[in-house]
Amino acid sequence: MPVISPGPFTKTLIIREEAKKEAYKYFSEEFSSKKGLVVCDENTEHIARRDFPGLPQMTFEAGAVATDTNGDAAAQRLEDGGYGFAVACGSGSISDITRYAAAKAGIPFVSYPTAASVDGFVSSVAAMTIDGRKATLPSKAPVALFADPAVFSSAPLRLTLSGVGDILGKYISLLDWRAAQCLMDEVLDDKLTDLINRAIDKVLALDPDDPGFAEAVMEGLVMTGMTIQYHGSSRPASGAEHHLSHLWEMHCMSEPTDALHGEKVGVSTLIVLERYKSVPYEDLAAEYIKPKFTRENLSHIYGPLTDGIIGENTPDPLASLTRERIKSAQPEINRLVNELPDIGALRDYMKKIGALTALDEIGLPNTARFKNLSMKYAPYVRRRITLLKILNIKD
Ligand SMILES: [Zn+2]
Repeated sequence: MPVISPGPFTKTLIIREEAKKEAYKYFSEEFSSKKGLVVCDENTEHIARRDFPGLPQMTFEAGAVATDTNGDAAAQRLEDGGYGFAVACGSGSISDITRYAAAKAGIPFVSYPTAASVDGFVSSVAAMTIDGRKATLPSKAPVALFADPAVFSSAPLRLTLSGVGDILGKYISLLDWRAAQCLMDEVLDDKLTDLINRAIDKVLALDPDDPGFAEAVMEGLVMTGMTIQYHGSSRPASGAEHHLSHLWEMHCMSEPTDALHGEKVGVSTLIVLERYKSVPYEDLAAEYIKPKFTRENLSHIYGPLTDGIIGENTPDPLASLTRERIKSAQPEINRLVNELPDIGALRDYMKKIGALTALDEIGLPNTARFKNLSMKYAPYVRRRITLLKILNIKD
């Protein structure tokens, strides 16, 4: 895997057959006599037993969510058992539970992903649900990742396609990062944007029927995940498309759905892409309406979460943005938008591989109003500057 260099936290990255053997070698070299605990769920317990027969398991129920309650339970088990390291054997939620628990217990953990479903395996923050609210908690990245294609290629295709959705979202997150550079002088890192573009190309080069498809998706996910680690924030890998997904996950304007993270990101990518493609036909400076973070206009969407949203946007991240600046940035923004993939072509590709492309397929209302409200209010979910944040969205 020469394309992925070790990061500041995850210094060992192995994606190859029999990765478990490398993992065992790593345990004995790095952890010597320390005891390890494998964290898994009912879907991945058989993998934990088969690949790590010498280590005890902590098994969560199938589909366990990364809540603080589950994370605290795992931390307690790690502390009570005197464990010196943990192994996250599962997909996104098990990774988040383990990274939160290991951070709380003050011990390192190793990632052993069982599906190519999200880019968060090497992340240093845990996306946790606390009292029904989604929160990103400081946590720790794995000290090593061992991913065996024979293991994650056997995961249901739906999980791998969710990983594809998470990667396709990078079209938008990269554009937003570049737009923030044009509009607000945010510092861009070309090495990281190149790495993400290569991750996208790697995935697009193969179809689900091709041998090596899941491996390409896993490599793409780890590559984009590492950009977060190199950059120290999720800026390279998370823009307006993730903000829509986060808004839906807050369940303040829609009911909870069973859709996977990457499925939501895939659909939101198409929604935002369609909106961005109209930008070259608009006069952004003339149409720019300075957002007002008033309780009245946010509370009918965010309800009890409004205070948190106002706090996130205080002071106003767009305070220094002028119409003149937008006017001078628009030619470059138009150029970047024109380089984005054609919406029809991307939708066709996603349909061809079996990925979800419409709101009703992920359990959300497939209406123009829901789409527009999502685009209008999602930018407040995070302080981060995106192109969507300055567009005039009609509801
Ligand atoms: Zn994501």
